[in-house]
Parts: sequence; C-alpha cells; structure tokens
Amino acid sequence: MGKLEGKYAIITGGGKGIGESIVKRFLEDGIGGIAVLEYDLNLAKEMITRLDTSDAEVLAIQCDVSNDNQVEKAVSQAMKHFGTVDILVNNAGITQDSMFHKMTDEAWDAVINVNLKGAYYLCKHVVPIMRKNAFGKIVNISSISAFGNVGQANYAASKAGLIGFSKTLAKEGGPKNINVNCVAPGYIETDMYKTVPTEIIEEHIKNTPLRRLGKPHEIASVVSFLSSDDASFLSGQCITVSGAATT
Ligand code: NDP
Repeated sequence: MGKLEGKYAIITGGGKGIGESIVKRFLEDGIGGIAVLEYDLNLAKEMITRLDTSDAEVLAIQCDVSNDNQVEKAVSQAMKHFGTVDILVNNAGITQDSMFHKMTDEAWDAVINVNLKGAYYLCKHVVPIMRKNAFGKIVNISSISAFGNVGQANYAASKAGLIGFSKTLAKEGGPKNINVNCVAPGYIETDMYKTVPTEIIEEHIKNTPLRRLGKPHEIASVVSFLSSDDASFLSGQCITVSGAATT
C-alpha cells in the first residue's frame, strides 16, 4: 500500500522541474488524484503524457497563482472533481534577480506576488476545506536563499516570508490536524537554476559539502514524506535540502 493512497492533492507549478518530480513521486506513492495548477496549461498537459497515470488521475488546470480569482476557480474545479483536498504543495515560483540598488518595483512585486502571495491565495481557499475535514498537509517550497543571497532581495524576502507564514499556519492548524512545513532546497538542476551565471554555480558547488547540485527527485522525496503520515508529528518546520550548503 502506497503511503499516499486515498489522498488527493493540489500542486502549483507542477508542469516541469521540481513540481513535475513531486507529481511523479506522489503517483509512485499511490496518491488517488492530483490537480496540477499551472500558468501554462499546455506545459501541464504535456507533463501528464510523460507520467504513468494508470492508477490515479492527474488533472491539469490553468491558473496564475498570483490571481485570486483564478486560484478560487481552480480550487473549486479540483474540489468538484476529487471531492476534497488533503495535500497542498505551493511549488510555483519565479526569480527576477538583480542587486537591490538596481531592483525595480516591478521585479519586487512580480516575485512577491507569485512566490508569497500565490501561496497565501492557495491557503486562503484550501485551509477552510482542511479545517472542515480536520485533516491536511501543506508543504511550501522555500529556498536556502531565504537566509540571504546576493542579487535576490525580492526572492529571499518571498521565500523567508513563506517560512514565517508556514510556521504560523502550523500553530493555527495544529488543533485541526493540519501539518504545515517548508522545504528549502539548495540549487537544483531545473530550468530555474539555468538562469544563474556559471561562475556562481561553480562557486556554490565548491561551497557545497556534497560537491554537486541537487536533483528534482531529491526534493520530491522530502515533499512526499512531509505529505504522508510518516511525518504525522512533524509540523512548523523548514527542512533544508541542500547537500549541507548554505548561501
Ligand atoms: P521551474 O522554473 O523549473 O518551475 C517553476 C514552475 O512554476 C513552472 O512550472 C512555472 O510555470 C510555474 N509558475 C511560475 N509562475 C507561475 C504562476 N504565476 N502561476 C502558476 N505557475 C507558475 O523552477 P523549479 O522547478 O526549479 O522551482 C520550483 C520551486 O522550487 C520554486 O518555488 C523555486 O523558487 C523553488 N526553488 C528552486 C531551486 C532551484 O535551484 N531550482 C532552489 C530553491 C528553491 P511556467 O513555466 O508556465 O511559468
């Protein structure tokens, strides 16, 4: 029996990268169904064709997580289809890096609106469902940049915000059997890290005790653990998954 058997999940930004790996791992762990909320619907649809969905249903829903109306509609579509939400993974994220003294208001707002406000909108519509069910697992994807990283003031603020947000929801949701945690990855081999200059990546690997970048499935396995009852007494934590690297 898979450890996520009979459970239904929503994941944001699941069309590629770490999100795709989480969807794949959830399926391997026996999940009943997953709604993938993705900015680009075709990306999610193509991703689903790469998966073995013989034992579960994966539903692609177009949704910009920074738009409250779209999030509300997407959550009700998932509810209509699956009847419940047991697990929420806030994975969608973007970067718009520059030194702070050159950062524009637009870059600040764009990153905060997707990474932090997006998670807020999802929780706003999903937490009431979980409270009613007296069951829920929320995993928010932060980053080691939350602890400070040159060129990422907006991203670091959004990812640090997610940690405080998660710890607070864990305290409020605990009495209703809702576990809330963060995962803070180091650099992981996805399209996102490809935007980082090579010399910064090389320096980062040198400063990483495991001497390499992480792979998406190494984040997915931790997210799956946190979403399962194997982690039933684990809540309000931020788990760093970075090969022992800090920023
Ligand atoms: P990718 O860029 O590969 O994937 C990000 C996903 O988020 C894409 O599917 C993207 O969709 C989606 N997305 C972006 N904006 C929105 C939006 N407004 N609404 C809905 N979906 C959106 O990145 P990763 O897989 O690497 O990153 C996943 C998470 O992990 C992010 O939160 C990121 O910050 C975090 N992270 C990544 C690290 C890394 O080194 N890769 C390190 C630490 C944390 P689309 O392409 O259609 O825009």
